[in-house]
Amino acid sequence: MQFSQRILNVQPSATLALSAKAKAMQAQGIDVLNLTVGEPDFNTPTHIHQAAIKAIADNQADSYTAATGIFPLREAVANFNNQQHGTNFTAKNVVVTVGGKFALYALSQVLLNPGDEVLIPLPAWVSYSEQVKLAGGVPVFAKPQAGQLKVTPAELAAAWTPKTKVLILNSPNNPTGEVYSKDELLAIGEWAVAKDLTIITDDMYGALVYNGTQFTSLLDLTPAIKEHTILVNGFSKAYAMTGWRVGYVIANEALIQRLGNFIGNTTGNLNAASQYAALAAITGDQTCVEEMRQVYEERLNTIFPLINALPGISLVNKPSGAFYLFPDVSAAVSATGFTSTDDFVAAVLQEAHVALVPGKAFGMDGHVRLSYGTDLTTLKTAIQRLQNFISDHQ
Ligand code: PLP
Repeated sequence: MQFSQRILNVQPSATLALSAKAKAMQAQGIDVLNLTVGEPDFNTPTHIHQAAIKAIADNQADSYTAATGIFPLREAVANFNNQQHGTNFTAKNVVVTVGGKFALYALSQVLLNPGDEVLIPLPAWVSYSEQVKLAGGVPVFAKPQAGQLKVTPAELAAAWTPKTKVLILNSPNNPTGEVYSKDELLAIGEWAVAKDLTIITDDMYGALVYNGTQFTSLLDLTPAIKEHTILVNGFSKAYAMTGWRVGYVIANEALIQRLGNFIGNTTGNLNAASQYAALAAITGDQTCVEEMRQVYEERLNTIFPLINALPGISLVNKPSGAFYLFPDVSAAVSATGFTSTDDFVAAVLQEAHVALVPGKAFGMDGHVRLSYGTDLTTLKTAIQRLQNFISDHQ
């Protein structure tokens, strides 16, 4: 069978592949501690479950909904974001999608012509570049300065060309957990406006910031920046709803209509039960989000010093969002006699039974990503195993 050039150009998701490998080892009875997972380890809160069950029992989930989503959910998403950002969106500015992942995919399809360049700051979530390629676009990467994990307009300008059409920004960031400050975002936003770029802000982890950090979105900034910005968000991370696959886009009405056309001809509506679950999540008591946030915060505060104390592993800045750490392991890799981070990570999995994701998957070699979407006992045991692994190989 001959496959399309389009799919031959696409890399499999490294995080999903590693997670699958860890799970396969676990299925063989091996006690693998899996720190690759990009999802909360909590159950979806009960009142959200109940809303979906009720929608099913009341036959509200039996039929197609509008491709753009049920009106009450679109309206609730607009209201929720208006409260957060001081905006005045209506339901017409919102489209509900099959996860944030498909929101981003749909945007690539709707915005890009072949050859259009999309600027992606590194390190970056694995799917941005592949989705851009699937749309015929060209991902162009902006690298932070050595030792840094965030970019400034200077690095973006260095990667910009006249073909650059879109900038994708993700704060709090996967894989680093870094959060861009208001001033940093303002500088980037003003630069992007001056270049007349469309900015996609992926605020998926916006609810998960720690130790007093204030989350700022590009939608909180100047009118010109807001006008250039498309918001992507979803319910997976904040409400522990990864399996329900609820994402959304907020943008001008013209773009929402085009997205509706695209969705109507691809996935069709997100399953209706998930939409009612999301409606309960966003209109209900937000205490559950705060409770989960506090648990992540405690984990971060506990493991950050432990990770930093590992020989050859360093994380200069304590991150303040999402649930990932992205330490530099290059000194540990060479001290243990490995020639690449990938080999180091593979040996850690085989020998220490700790699953990590190599930084190369996110476009930054010499680092690993570990997720603290797992309980503290597992995290502490994994760090102890890493320490033993490093000292055994020296
Ligand atoms: N954006 C980022 C940065 C992510 O980490 C993820 C999930 O891992 C997504 C988007 C997509 O999330 P979902 O499709 O579950 O809404």
